[in-house]
Amino acid sequence: MTAQTGRAVVLEEFNRPLALREFDLPSAPDRGMIVTCGYGGICGTDLHLQRGHLPIPTPLVLGHEGLGVVRELGPGATHDATGAELGPGDSVMWASSIACGTCPACRLQREPTLCENRRTYGVNRSTLDGPALSGSWADHIVLQPGTTVVKAAEGVDPLAAMSLACAGPTVIHALYERRPVRLGEVVVVQGSGPVGLAAAAFAQLAGAAKVIVVGGPDERLELAVKAGIGDVHLNIADATDPDRVLSEVRSGTGGEGADLVIECAGVPQAVAQGLTLARRGGSYLVIGQYTDAGDTVLNPHQIVHRQLNVIGSWAFTGAHLVEYVRLLPTLAARFNLASLVTPFPLDRHADALAAVANGSVMKAVLTS
Ligand SMILES: [Zn+2]
Ligand SMILES: [Zn+2]
Repeated sequence: MTAQTGRAVVLEEFNRPLALREFDLPSAPDRGMIVTCGYGGICGTDLHLQRGHLPIPTPLVLGHEGLGVVRELGPGATHDATGAELGPGDSVMWASSIACGTCPACRLQREPTLCENRRTYGVNRSTLDGPALSGSWADHIVLQPGTTVVKAAEGVDPLAAMSLACAGPTVIHALYERRPVRLGEVVVVQGSGPVGLAAAAFAQLAGAAKVIVVGGPDERLELAVKAGIGDVHLNIADATDPDRVLSEVRSGTGGEGADLVIECAGVPQAVAQGLTLARRGGSYLVIGQYTDAGDTVLNPHQIVHRQLNVIGSWAFTGAHLVEYVRLLPTLAARFNLASLVTPFPLDRHADALAAVANGSVMKAVLTS
């Protein structure tokens, strides 16, 4: 007999332990679907959500990245975002957010990531507002009409697909819409978490001549080396003299600085450093400052004297998730993505979250 209820990890109160709760499983909404959610990724953002750093409603089932198997299609749900026919039993991934389609950002500025009214699974869909099972840290999730659903990449290990499930589309948005990596460029990536590794891996795929990853701690850099991501790896996180590491980065670029520096560190101080790592006339693409971590001191002369293009990038749309899934077979053939992932069963969510918080795993994924 198939389950009539679903278990999910719920954020009830900020800074309190999460709770595993059971909810009734509704029938699939019109043009939506119920997915048996085998994999729910833990993203750095989830730590901030749990700590109340972002204004979100509670109680809330967490998890904005997932992969699972279609259990039930609602009336009118027949195809995925690419036009492929969908049926029960198909493995799918889905985009975390649905843009409203009517606000100025959506309708006039053609920037749906900047939508003021985005609804995001695992972030702003409270259990009190629509189906409770609206996050991927669960054994089932209810996907609403308008969700970008795409069949999972054939022949790719689900853990490999989950390795960059949020970081990958985030970086694809940055590289497709904001500043591409060009053939033969020297690229510096600041940060060695999933976003940094996604940036480095995509830069390599795009034909960068050299990719220097500057991050830390050593365990994370070693994981990157083992996965084949990045050409040069420098630890700045544990350096007693960060300036020495920065000059090592600069000499690694040939002395003049990188054509493109991609910030994926998330700490404000990294921006002041990153501005000094680009060559004159180069670009600085800032992706990592997703949470407001406060002010920092920087020297704006660097921007003018180096004549830098300083570019920000926020989030991604369903189209970028589809692009990620389309790239996965190539990405997984070149890099050992599954080696970046540590799976945890759903009921060990607290251990998984602690492991992400203390940096002892690169990427934790809850499995059910
Ligand atoms: Zn995320
Ligand atoms: Zn909108």
